[in-house]
Amino acid sequence: MPVYLDHNATTPLDARVREAMLPYLGEIYGNPASPHRFGRATRMAVDEARERVAALVGAAPQQVVFTGCGTEANNLALLGAAAHLPPGPVAVSRIEHPSVLEPARRLEARGRPVLWLEVDGEGRVRPESLDAALAQGARLVSVMLANNETGVIQDVAALARRAREAGAVVHTDAVQAAGKIPVDFPALGVHLLTLSAHKLHGPQGVGALVRDRALELEPLLVGGGQEEGLRSGTLNVAGIVGFGTAAALAADELATRAARMRALRERLERGLARLDGVRILAAGAERLPNTVMAGVAGVESETLLMALDRAGYAVSSGSACHTGKTEPSHVLAAMGVPPELALGSIRVSVGKDTTEADVDGFLAALAGALDSLRRGAVGA
Ligand code: PLP
Repeated sequence: MPVYLDHNATTPLDARVREAMLPYLGEIYGNPASPHRFGRATRMAVDEARERVAALVGAAPQQVVFTGCGTEANNLALLGAAAHLPPGPVAVSRIEHPSVLEPARRLEARGRPVLWLEVDGEGRVRPESLDAALAQGARLVSVMLANNETGVIQDVAALARRAREAGAVVHTDAVQAAGKIPVDFPALGVHLLTLSAHKLHGPQGVGALVRDRALELEPLLVGGGQEEGLRSGTLNVAGIVGFGTAAALAADELATRAARMRALRERLERGLARLDGVRILAAGAERLPNTVMAGVAGVESETLLMALDRAGYAVSSGSACHTGKTEPSHVLAAMGVPPELALGSIRVSVGKDTTEADVDGFLAALAGALDSLRRGAVGA
């Protein structure tokens, strides 16, 4: 049986989530905007899901805007908020997911300068870099809560406090954090927060933007006026029901899942430490309980990835959204990881159902793959 150790790319749909979704792919089928009983049935389901997604992050249901994915929520946050802000730069950390970097570049192309926030060698945003951006009049700040590649957790509450004091609007991409660590929208003090269902055992193709309702946002999609006009389009009812169920399960099981994953990560790291030329990156930073990014000297990560895949282990190199890319990932480059380590980096992300045997098998497969690759035997 192949072993899946790439949970930061996506997670398997929880069987309980699938069960909850099935009626909405079958006998329950109204448009939630319709006033009749068919519409009421799906509207009630969407309302319940909205409550559950809001509860996962300590927000009110009216603060949740359902979107087509995390990418869309990030686009709505940056492009939507910037549309209502006075001229002035946006400040974005260098290690954001492309779904934040690209809208920032779009704003730049439209005449709003981007100030790139630097990170230290452990992947933590430098507070002085934010202070400099705020001093230059940054209007909008976006810093992710946890990084998809390294798992590094940012002190978003502290950064948001500084940014708010300077009058800036603050967004955080919490896609990787939700379901792995507690996420508290009010305590973070941000105006906007992004979520995605498929990273927490929900379905792919559904996300949410949690928002401070006092903040004006320009929608990306206009039309029928769904989601209070912020995201027109008939709702993905089954997906949203799945998201709600996944969020409720993640909230209920957070402590046990996190403890289990942390123990597995520690086991993995102990094993990695015994291998030659392998270094755990951002080891000194607070990280997600499930994520290890390891720099491996003397191999190319794509080659290593394929060797591991042949051995039955699925991991990722750098960001999964960028497979096939051979330059070091932008995250590792921003951290100043030496290219010879970054080019051989692999990301292992365990999940709530990963076992010790999976981790031990992976470590053995990695040792074998490294041995063959370094001797130049594979592919010969
Ligand atoms: N933000 C982060 C940190 C991610 O890891 C991802 C997914 O890879 C996204 C945003 C995009 O979410 P989605 O896949 O739902 O568009």
